[in-house]
Amino acid sequence: MKTSAKVVVIGGGVVGCSVLYHLTKAGWTDVMLIERAELTAGSTWHAAGGFHTLNGDPNVAKLQQYTVELYKEIEELSGVACGLHLTGGVMLAGTEDRMDWLKMAHAKGRYLGMHTEIISAEEAKKRMPLIDEKQFVGAMYDPLEGHLDPYGTTHAYAKSAKINGAEIVVRNRVLELNQREDGTWDVVTEQGTVHAEHVVNAGGLWAREVGRMVGLELPILAMEHMYLLTEDIPEVAEANKATGKEVITALDFEGEIYTRQERGGMLLGTYEKAAKPWSEQETPWDFGQNLLEPDLDRIAPELEVGFEHFPSYGNAGIKKIINGPFTFAPDGNPLVGPVRGLKNFWVACGVMAGFSQGGGVGLALSNWMVKGDPGFDVWGMDVARYGDYATLAYTNAKVRENYSRRFRIRFPNEELDAARPFRTTPIYDRLLADNAVMGESYGLEYPLWFAPKGEVAKDVFSFRRSTDFQHVGNEVNRVRNGVGVMETSGYAKYRVTGEGAEAWLSHILANKIPAEGRMVLTPMLNDNGKLIGDFTLAKLGAEEFLIIGSGPAEQYHMRWFEAHLPKTGVRIEALGLDLVGLSVAGPHSRVLMQKLTLQDLSSAHFPFMGIRKMDLGAIPAIVGRVTFTGDLGYEIWVKPEYQRALLNLIFKAGEEFNIGHFGLRALNSMRLEKNFGTWAREYRPIYGPLEGAMSRFVDLKKNDFIGRSAAAEEKANGGALRLVSFVIDANDADCIGDEPVWHDGKVVGWITSGGYGHSVKASIGMGYVPKELADKTDGFEIEIIGERRKAKIIREALFDPKGEKMRS
Ligand SMILES: Cc1cc2nc3c(=O)[nH]c(=O)nc-3n(C[C@H](O)[C@H](O)[C@H](O)COP(=O)(O)OP(=O)(O)OC[C@H]3O[C@@H](n4cnc5c(N)ncnc54)[C@H](O)[C@@H]3O)c2cc1C
Repeated sequence: MKTSAKVVVIGGGVVGCSVLYHLTKAGWTDVMLIERAELTAGSTWHAAGGFHTLNGDPNVAKLQQYTVELYKEIEELSGVACGLHLTGGVMLAGTEDRMDWLKMAHAKGRYLGMHTEIISAEEAKKRMPLIDEKQFVGAMYDPLEGHLDPYGTTHAYAKSAKINGAEIVVRNRVLELNQREDGTWDVVTEQGTVHAEHVVNAGGLWAREVGRMVGLELPILAMEHMYLLTEDIPEVAEANKATGKEVITALDFEGEIYTRQERGGMLLGTYEKAAKPWSEQETPWDFGQNLLEPDLDRIAPELEVGFEHFPSYGNAGIKKIINGPFTFAPDGNPLVGPVRGLKNFWVACGVMAGFSQGGGVGLALSNWMVKGDPGFDVWGMDVARYGDYATLAYTNAKVRENYSRRFRIRFPNEELDAARPFRTTPIYDRLLADNAVMGESYGLEYPLWFAPKGEVAKDVFSFRRSTDFQHVGNEVNRVRNGVGVMETSGYAKYRVTGEGAEAWLSHILANKIPAEGRMVLTPMLNDNGKLIGDFTLAKLGAEEFLIIGSGPAEQYHMRWFEAHLPKTGVRIEALGLDLVGLSVAGPHSRVLMQKLTLQDLSSAHFPFMGIRKMDLGAIPAIVGRVTFTGDLGYEIWVKPEYQRALLNLIFKAGEEFNIGHFGLRALNSMRLEKNFGTWAREYRPIYGPLEGAMSRFVDLKKNDFIGRSAAAEEKANGGALRLVSFVIDANDADCIGDEPVWHDGKVVGWITSGGYGHSVKASIGMGYVPKELADKTDGFEIEIIGERRKAKIIREALFDPKGEKMRS
């Protein structure tokens, strides 16, 4: 074993081997993989080997597609067979809601370059003869589904990496990880110590334990999972004969079952509702290639449905039951990337579908390590999407929930219940008393909308406009015509101080630094000139700044900020709930606010984008003249102990204007009416500022800043895409995001967010199209739940296009 390497990858499962291969492919060949037992000895060896491209996050779906397409490459390079059976597969819908969901997945697939088909139940029966078609209303067919040999595939990655120069050491457990002053690592193993520049935790079932070696509690939990193999089934032989092919894979959402042919019988696995975690606190190091005790009773309800939907299975004997553990993150997607605050420490774990996702994870991580950027949008699997709130118990509750509803539809207006309420602000109980329907983001409760007094505050889940529609409309109209108040504590808030603060901010942010008492909107760019942040930056004092950004991106942004912080002279802290907020918006908001302070709030003294410390009543606050509603309004920031008093004060002062709450759904409606984009929707690291209509917030003339030359290049060559807004001819369902945009019969773009503009009475969508089409107005269609709706590009915001109200 060598004693130094550029990278040590810990773990020889499918994920570690893929990472190793991709590193060598990217040109880093001084790399080694250390495995405590044999390759595949974790979850990998007993996997059912199924793969598919479907994923709720289109960017993860794309990586799954990449993974499936990679297998030929590693087979050819290594000479090791992956045992690939690219059979194609059907996803079966038992209800009309599920059919809608499939139509949406199919539509999404169009702009991802996937070739799925929506087919009838009868057609599904022709392709997968073992189903009882009467149980289904239709299906989606995907040619990129199938199964493979987990052992062969892992070894194909490993051998390919070795051919490219990597070293693999087996039967050698990593015992300790010690970081040196310079950020490099001493990897202490049973066979000696390796000095490595970088370490990758691909420890799978033991990723938590490897994380703990560096003081990290990763949000992952292993769950028991069962599949069974049947004896030979005569109908399988008949189907093989009739079609001349292996029986294709099937996914039965209602039965919560996946199934495929295995020799003369079938393999059937299920994500049972009675989900059972395994080794909740820690994974024993002596857990070998063991299987867990099968428990047919636990999966009996799912099997019962399965036998109804696949009648021939009911008569077949069970040859074998496999029960094995594998790990999940709270949302079921992988955890990949660099870890905040731990230089040169990377993770590639929580991969619950290693044979669909392993290749994409390896590609993303190797790009990130070698080129400094994953190369595409990996937010859906970035380890930084979780913050400190994702503790062991939180993760346990969320993973159980995710597992047990893996095949259930999540409606766009559906909030999940596990581990809630968790993080709350001081006005939480008041909001509930005022009949708020709450949502959760980054563990924090926030109001979505408010039901009228006496009515049950609850969403009716739907892909279409639902029971909240009218109430959200009332909230919007209250703001547009009067005044409303909203909880804004969910935004991320960062305080930046120190003598070097201004220079540093000007180096990492793209806009100029505002004068004291002023704010600017500013993108943050990466070295490639892509959007990695969108902030409001306020200068509160000569050496004091406040940055407001997207709440769920707090860890993501802190990772970037801290990695770029100079050794001295600047201090940044994420304020979390140490600073909480309320927003007051609407034409009466100034008169209301003026009742609370002696400071002059007239526009001459406190103009749009001004910010000041002021007392509201007796409450010390920071007040900014800006709101995301695009109306006249204010954002108020206070310490948490004042938030209740502040809300009471605002309600009292607003009584004469009939003030009321508004929630996030009303805010979304209003920002769409203004064509305001938002982080993680319109602004993501795959778009440049010109493409994202942000170039007016990029000051190329100021000092050099990160991404400046790439932004200048984008300005010169025009980029490839443009963010545009559409008015859509929709009547009962609006865009929710990820719908394909058609033009002249071809899919040309995608929607990033959408909804109904209640005060302008229009269905609005924002999305990206090729820049060549952005000047056109007509000829567009947007596919909403399988129906292509006429759409028009609008050049100006539908509400207050000149921005007079917010500046008034
Ligand atoms: C019953 C079952 C069915 C499944 N079916 C499918 C399926 O059909 N399709 C699919 O895509 N996925 C399936 N999976 C999931 C799949 O197995 C996982 O996604 C995949 O194996 C994860 O791979 P990994 O490399 O992350 O983890 P692992 O396979 O757990 O690998 C981690 C490796 O790291 C090593 N390691 C850990 N700590 C150390 C240390 N300190 N020092 C040295 N080495 C260490 C371990 O020994 C292990 O070999 C299934 C899982 C189960 C249990």
